[in-house]
Amino acid sequence: MEGALAGPQKWDLIIVGSGAGGLVLALELAKKGFRIAILDRQPHSVSLPRGEIIQPNGLGLLDRLGLLSTLLESDVYRNERVDFYQASGPLLCAVDYRVLPPPYAYSLILLPEVAQKLLLEKVAQVSNISFFWGATFRSLIYEGSRLSGLEAEWGGERTIFRAPVVVGGDGARSALREALRIPCRLHRYVDGYLTMVVDRPPGFEGESRYYLGRRALFGAFPVSKEKLYLFYMVPSHHLESLCRGRFDLFKESLLSFHPSLRSFLEGPLKEVSSWEETSYMPCFRVRCDRWVADGAALMGDAAHAMNPHVAQGRNTAMNDGVVLAEVLEGCFRKGDFSTKALSVYESRRRPPVEALQRLGDELTWLWNSGFPPLVWARDRIFRSIHRKQDLHDKILMTISGLKEHPFGLIDRWRALHLWGGLLNRSEETGQRISSPDP
Ligand SMILES: Cc1cc2nc3c(=O)[nH]c(=O)nc-3n(C[C@H](O)[C@H](O)[C@H](O)COP(=O)(O)OP(=O)(O)OC[C@H]3O[C@@H](n4cnc5c(N)ncnc54)[C@H](O)[C@@H]3O)c2cc1C
Repeated sequence: MEGALAGPQKWDLIIVGSGAGGLVLALELAKKGFRIAILDRQPHSVSLPRGEIIQPNGLGLLDRLGLLSTLLESDVYRNERVDFYQASGPLLCAVDYRVLPPPYAYSLILLPEVAQKLLLEKVAQVSNISFFWGATFRSLIYEGSRLSGLEAEWGGERTIFRAPVVVGGDGARSALREALRIPCRLHRYVDGYLTMVVDRPPGFEGESRYYLGRRALFGAFPVSKEKLYLFYMVPSHHLESLCRGRFDLFKESLLSFHPSLRSFLEGPLKEVSSWEETSYMPCFRVRCDRWVADGAALMGDAAHAMNPHVAQGRNTAMNDGVVLAEVLEGCFRKGDFSTKALSVYESRRRPPVEALQRLGDELTWLWNSGFPPLVWARDRIFRSIHRKQDLHDKILMTISGLKEHPFGLIDRWRALHLWGGLLNRSEETGQRISSPDP
């Protein structure tokens, strides 16, 4: 429902930001009859030329929400494998989702607007959710020391929205987090990604591809039946000088990134002729002292943005939505929105999210490196993961969001293959992993 303030301006919950996390939270709580207002500063849903992976944990969650079957019928790419190639040619490693326990033994790659549209359509069918596009959060409102709502700029006017609890799903640079004065370390990674979407050539059979060089990374992920998403690592301080250069020379550098690229990318790249058809995606990590305050909670990137190498930002935001809805239901029952009552949400979500943040940093350190010993170690680790099924499964289970399986010290030694065969338990890949413990 589009927002209209003719009636009472009181809600049970206000969500700032219409990202996937906020929408899942709204859908979960609306089922229980709560009245929810969603504010977003954008005038409408936006789309960028990029793709996104929905990992097995996200698939499970969308399935529980009754959305997965519709998503599978839309124009998305069912991805079963991620192949990592050395820029000079050889395959380093294939990470194979098919060994995961069914039914989510795959991931989906799609244009983010496809999943967003599905969530927005679902929200539009719910009468107790009101949407306020073009409403920008400005400040919090308190009655005494109790938070009682917020002020937003909407339709050129300052507008008051009242609710006993406010949730910030407003991204890595969250204004709500700032208004709550929650101490936070916002880290901008050196490297971001120049992205574009081109016509998809034939030749992809359920896989997506990464090409890794020295201080260089290029990816080609199908996102639909007709489109291929390309991303190219660019340090943010090089972006300006890169984009001052000629676009055709940039395309040539992409085509010579790996020996196989010219054969399948030359045609699709002819269709892209200017920098305007690309987008630059900076990457952030957010670490907050707290995710909750009296009458307020943060979710998604506002609470814990992470490096996209783990491809889990949207998946974890949706998971936050489910858990926060459960916790808030209890808070509404007791009429208690204190930090203590809300911290149950934080204590359930923080450990798995922080494990993913750490993994994201570790992958960034290794994959993006240009330091020869690290590049050597990275390629060696990839080859070990390709050969040793238990290492392959550990990393896959963590990235899939199914179980935290950080590499221990022995795993790291084995991945580097420094102790030769001494500790190699299994050398064969391709056996299915049993279901993770609940
Ligand atoms: C290059 C790249 C690749 C990625 N790939 C993946 C991937 O493959 N898989 C994956 O799961 N994740 C991926 N991510 C991460 C993912 O995109 C984010 O983690 C996810 O979108 C975060 O969702 P969110 O709901 O927290 O916030 P967002 O999606 O950022 O939404 C925040 C919303 O808040 C609104 N807003 C902001 N400020 C205000 C304000 N003051 N008032 C009102 N509204 C406001 C914004 O308009 C926006 O709509 C990737 C990220 C990058 C950069």
